[in-house]
Amino acid sequence: MDQDQPISESPPGFRAGYVAICGYPNAGKSTLLNRILKHRLGIISAKPQTTRRKTLGIHSTDQCQIIFIDTPGILDPCYDLQEAMMKQVDDSLNDADLLLYLVDLTRPAMAPGVAALSHKKPVIVLLNKADLLTKPEESLATIEELKSQGEFQDFFSISALKGKGVNQLLSQVEALMPLSPPFYPLDQLTEHPERFFVGELIREAIFKQFREEVPYSTEVEIVDFKEQAKGKDRIEATIYVESDSQKAILIGKGGSAIKKLGQTARQGVEDFLDRPVYLGLHIKVMPRWRRDTRALKRFGY
Ligand code: GDP
Ligand code: MG
Repeated sequence: MDQDQPISESPPGFRAGYVAICGYPNAGKSTLLNRILKHRLGIISAKPQTTRRKTLGIHSTDQCQIIFIDTPGILDPCYDLQEAMMKQVDDSLNDADLLLYLVDLTRPAMAPGVAALSHKKPVIVLLNKADLLTKPEESLATIEELKSQGEFQDFFSISALKGKGVNQLLSQVEALMPLSPPFYPLDQLTEHPERFFVGELIREAIFKQFREEVPYSTEVEIVDFKEQAKGKDRIEATIYVESDSQKAILIGKGGSAIKKLGQTARQGVEDFLDRPVYLGLHIKVMPRWRRDTRALKRFGY
């Protein structure tokens, strides 16, 4: 295995980012995602309880990768507004570069918290189910109402069901993504939809076992995930740290710490996958991460 390579080489001008989708139940979130993802690449089957972020799906082209995430809790209409305000910086929202807020045009209503959030993150309002409107003026009234409550980046009238406006929306979202290498292999993810969750579980094990500095300086990359027809799946993961001293802590005396970590992580992965696996952990020092605060933050640290 190559030593100390960057996680991925970035094609020039490549954009990648996280987009949180929110809105009341029945606003059309799933319909929109299905429409977007149907065109290209795959969907991750999410098991939200096991992850900090619920990844709904990834849309990749040769120029851009958009990772759609759910925003558990904070934008739930049942969520107490006061609580939402107090929580201020919600982790999952911190990861998002952009929010898509879906409104059902036939029943327009703003979820609590959205207006407040719109002052912190760019929010695009999607006026969905435009196909059901008999009078287009109706959506203008909704736009005016929303504008009086928050600071929105843009408004799109769409029909997730019929596909109207979805391509224009995607172009706009792409343009708003930061320049960044892709976070996931452009082609491999559909083959190994569980890859992402396994990485998260290893991270979780690191957080459980080590103190402040180490987990926050760690990045996990699943470098190989082979499903075997017979016998255990083989998963190889690289844990990136920023310094030799952190590497030494992770390894521990005579390898005791990494051994313990491997056992905890494997247990978590096996519980999640519901099958036995071989899990190989490798540690690499990558000082680059220290300066790449954006990357650290984006990976959830
Ligand atoms: P979610 O709860 O936000 O994920 O909403 P869904 O995607 O499950 O959609 C709820 C309902 O609204 C479903 O019956 C969809 O078919 C319908 N729906 C979603 N988008 C549209 C749209 O653009 N036009 C119409 N007419 N129906 C839509
Ligand atoms: Mg849904």
